[in-house]
Amino acid sequence: MNLQKGALIALLLFFSTATIYAQGTSLEKRPSSAIQLSATNDIYTTIDKMADEIDAKVIQWRRQMHEFPELSNREFKTGEMVAKHLESLGIEVTRNFAKTGVKGVLKGGKPGPVVALRADMDALPVTERVDIPFASKVKAVYNGVETGVMHACGHDTHVAMLMGAAEILAAVKNDLKGTVVFMFQPAEEGAPPGEEGGAKLMVKEGILNNPKVDAAFGIHISSREEVGKINYKVAGVMAAADRFVINVKGKQSHGSMPWGGIDPITVSAQIIQGLNNIISRQTELTKEAAVISVGMIQGGVRNNIIPESCKMIGTIRTLDVEMQKIIHDKIRLTATSIAESAGATAEVEIVPYAPVVYNNLELSRKMIPSVERVAGAENVKITKAVTGAEDFAFFANEVPSMFLFLGGMEKGMSPIDAPPHHTPDFYIDESGLKLGVRTYANLAVDYLK
Ligand SMILES: [Zn+2]
Ligand SMILES: [Zn+2]
Repeated sequence: MNLQKGALIALLLFFSTATIYAQGTSLEKRPSSAIQLSATNDIYTTIDKMADEIDAKVIQWRRQMHEFPELSNREFKTGEMVAKHLESLGIEVTRNFAKTGVKGVLKGGKPGPVVALRADMDALPVTERVDIPFASKVKAVYNGVETGVMHACGHDTHVAMLMGAAEILAAVKNDLKGTVVFMFQPAEEGAPPGEEGGAKLMVKEGILNNPKVDAAFGIHISSREEVGKINYKVAGVMAAADRFVINVKGKQSHGSMPWGGIDPITVSAQIIQGLNNIISRQTELTKEAAVISVGMIQGGVRNNIIPESCKMIGTIRTLDVEMQKIIHDKIRLTATSIAESAGATAEVEIVPYAPVVYNNLELSRKMIPSVERVAGAENVKITKAVTGAEDFAFFANEVPSMFLFLGGMEKGMSPIDAPPHHTPDFYIDESGLKLGVRTYANLAVDYLK
């Protein structure tokens, strides 16, 4: 008998933390000399003017990447396009960073701190269904299966927006009080099996050193938030993702005489119920959301044989480091104790994928006024946490960081009708890109100020 089950109950409770930005001062209220202010205002004007001028070019870059997307750790053409562009701007470039990534260093005309801006570059094994002239033309073999390749998470927009911001920042570099590091990252969606990759490898290879980065910013486009809007949340904003494997071992017997053996399938069913109880009965859900989902269960080959073993795999999502540890401990305790009560054994393996994306409190307090100035305060709102994961977390673990969500949905559309990320109908309204370019550039300028 082959048991295949989809994900079981996932309990999600969303919770917005208290606002901290409410007491943030507006930029105008900040103390600064008249000369500094006017110099800064000149930069802001230049950023906006250039963002208008290069908008068509940014959209063109995006379309080129969209038509010819590349899978994780295979972003060869994308990386080369980025590297050539940065070089043309006089930015110091390191190619093949963390396999196909690109590091760019732009030294400002004045001394100061170092700020990093990140864009991820990889596409997904999804066959595009959107009817646009620049729809993906690429196919690939993924996990042994031929599939289309599509920028179904919008990373093409991230690359294009950051290339645009680099062009603007290079133009105003004499006025920059510090250094900007551009992190064009491969393999956010996960490196192919057996390979290292992504933000974790970038950190390992020293992207945050030479020069030593003081703060990092990332932006993710959203297909379900209106163009012109920016969402953020302080503290845990995207979940830690950990994979678990539970192997239950019983004793094989004839299906007609279960008392002669130890049934690992029944034990597994009890364990699944136990896992659900961890979230619904033992987790302080008013603190942060948490999810445990079993995505696969497999055991046995035939109707009248109780098998020797049964295996489950699943995912754990948490938004708080302490809760993450507690939930991991409870999973081990629950699985092994339930198995023991039946005379079976359970082996539990928990494999980390990405930590919590943590928006630094101080940095958020300092920078949200900039975001509000750029987007208009009425367009910036605090969002609830997301139980999806992002490997930007590896940067946020090392340096104070802030990760924002940028609207990419056509104005007036309902989010319910907007196709989600990672699906064949995923669509981004390109009129939202200019705000992303401006946001990247302004965050760098204001952080260094
Ligand atoms: Zn994605
Ligand atoms: Zn993504």
